[in-house]
Amino acid sequence: MLQATVKSGFKEDVCVLITLPTQRWTYLCDCGYASALSIREIKNLQAIFISHTHIDHFCNFDTILRHQLPIGRKVLIFGPKGIARNVQAKFLAYNWENLTVDDKQVFYEIHELQREGYVKIYEIRSPAWELVEVGEEETDVIYQTDMFKVRFCLLKHGIDCAAYSFELHPTLNLKADLPYKRGQWIREVKNAYRLNQPNQILQLEEGTFKASELFPYLEENRGIKIGYVMDHAPTPENHAKVIQLLKGCDELYIEAYYKHEDLEMAIHNQHSTAKFSGELARKVGARRVFPIHFSRRYQTEEMIEEVVQECLDAFESEGEELIVG
Ligand SMILES: [Zn+2]
Ligand SMILES: [Zn+2]
Repeated sequence: MLQATVKSGFKEDVCVLITLPTQRWTYLCDCGYASALSIREIKNLQAIFISHTHIDHFCNFDTILRHQLPIGRKVLIFGPKGIARNVQAKFLAYNWENLTVDDKQVFYEIHELQREGYVKIYEIRSPAWELVEVGEEETDVIYQTDMFKVRFCLLKHGIDCAAYSFELHPTLNLKADLPYKRGQWIREVKNAYRLNQPNQILQLEEGTFKASELFPYLEENRGIKIGYVMDHAPTPENHAKVIQLLKGCDELYIEAYYKHEDLEMAIHNQHSTAKFSGELARKVGARRVFPIHFSRRYQTEEMIEEVVQECLDAFESEGEELIVG
């Protein structure tokens, strides 16, 4: 199970926490101010996924840093081109003369999403906080554990804005009508299936089998998929990219910055509208949509509720379709 929790209140800047119920590790999408984010959740962060560094998505990074200083391990930060310098600038904003280099301090590995499929990796450590280039990767999967993986695409919002897809690995179960005695071979046949090795020979109590002969007894359960899509211009190119990344996702967390009546402003500021975001979620085939990032022109809870409703109506209606490039 992969779980997303919105940590920012309706008047706060956006921040979503990703957790797995069986693990203490946490993962963060954006660092808008979020009063519901606890110190324990911050200390357990393994990776931070920044959509872009407009202030409303990055201003709370200082709080994260404040609580992570003594954790004594690496934390990963992902974000579009320029994120490494943006992170470094946060450190350079303070004096660190009381810090000595020891193994109790946090250090960061910054993965800069330079373009789709290409990531540059930097490291930054106390007390000098110099950026050191440590590698590059040509990959679409930017983060992976034994439970889930993360993919991304870059949307146009003036600057690049990264959209992320959190995908729980599918699980393999055995069908109930299994005619063989269970044993060590179950783990082996699952591995053979995952690694596409149908000719592997497996020893069962009943005899010797090729893995492919046992594959029919496996059942694949689709993993859960959560999408995080922040600021983007409502263009066919952006919409096509979101659909490609998040097709059939279970939950889509998406900006709904303006009401559709403010479309002119949305286009000028390269933002989506609630209606466009709802239509996009429908096009994606998302099971549920969560509009979560709103303009500060909508000041009251009632106004925000209207924006949310506009998004949900567009998601559920069969009306006008987005043009997808
Ligand atoms: Zn922005
Ligand atoms: Zn924003």
